Amino acid sequence: MSIERVPFVDLPRQYLSLRDELLLAVDRVCRSGAYVLGDDVKLLEERIAAFCGTKYAVGVANGADALLLSMKALGIGSGDEVITAPNSFIASAWTIHAVGATPVFADVGDDYNIDPDRVEAAITSRTRAIMPVHLTGRPAHMDELLAISVRHGLHVVEDAAQAIGARYKGRRTGSFGAAGGFSLHPLKNLHAYGDGGIITTNDADLYAKITKLRNHGLRNRDECEVWGINSRLDSIQAAVLLVKLPHLDNWNERSRAIAQRYRDKLAQHMWVPQDRPEEEPVYHRFIVQVDERSRLMKFLAENGVETRVNYPIPIHLQPIGRQMGYKGGEFPVAERQADRIMSLPLYPEMTDDEVEFVIDGVERYYRTEAPRAR
Ligand SMILES: *Cc1c(COP(=O)(O)O)cnc(C)c1O
Repeated sequence: MSIERVPFVDLPRQYLSLRDELLLAVDRVCRSGAYVLGDDVKLLEERIAAFCGTKYAVGVANGADALLLSMKALGIGSGDEVITAPNSFIASAWTIHAVGATPVFADVGDDYNIDPDRVEAAITSRTRAIMPVHLTGRPAHMDELLAISVRHGLHVVEDAAQAIGARYKGRRTGSFGAAGGFSLHPLKNLHAYGDGGIITTNDADLYAKITKLRNHGLRNRDECEVWGINSRLDSIQAAVLLVKLPHLDNWNERSRAIAQRYRDKLAQHMWVPQDRPEEEPVYHRFIVQVDERSRLMKFLAENGVETRVNYPIPIHLQPIGRQMGYKGGEFPVAERQADRIMSLPLYPEMTDDEVEFVIDGVERYYRTEAPRAR
């Protein structure tokens, strides 16, 4: 079968591969009459905690709430600073702002993850926490970051939205910090049919606080102990995720195999991510770095390969970052990467032929188009 186009994402493929089971799960929930939280959410929480190697997990409405509620439960608020990465999705920063604290950025390294030396340099008397982002599905440098957090008495809240299942020195993301926040949004490696999120933690006290905070601050049906929010996970989404979770390791394994194939073929043309021995990424994104990005993206689009840029504008250079007083030049690595990064299609449902189609498109560019540009 000849391929004409490889889309950047194709979510219905995974749905169709599990359709009968998924529909049965949805039907079971709809017939049960219990649509919010309930047994399915409880079971999902247990399974995710077991999967991540933590004592507890709490289902919430989305990944941003997972971060926000973790910080709220840790008592982070007005006057506090939280150090995070400037190259992340905007939610890493706005959730810090939403609890009343100030996001403080520290530059990243070659692997797109926050540079521990830069984190330590950014610590002030107001710093309360570090929020490393396991960006692109690659674990951040947790040994160094945890050592810094101990040295300075800081909390660590992992933004693991892109990295469910990834391992660092054998341990899963979400199991290192006081809490880990995962997104179950359709674009993430384990996803619901709508929004969803989950928090992992080993701390019984934090777990108790978060379960109240996500449900209006209620301790039970009638008694309210704290000002909370409504950030509950739907039972239908939990039921769907229970069907999918047993497949996640295989899907991530397939993603790693596709990444390896890209790496083998494309490293001669462009910067490609190389895995360090201590990490097992899950390749939420395969982000290369190239000169003349717009020419290559245009060529690939004309040749049926859809690419994207995650993310073209670092948070500190967004209008919102400039309002905080940030300027260009402050985080040179993140800024340089923002001009050079490009995401290739990578999802476990891609066929080998599609992977070769993408590689062929890139190779053709470097054979025919790139020499002409010089
Ligand atoms: C997706 C994402 C979030 C937010 O998750 P939502 O479920 O969309 O709220 C936060 N941080 C990062 C790095 C993300 O990729």
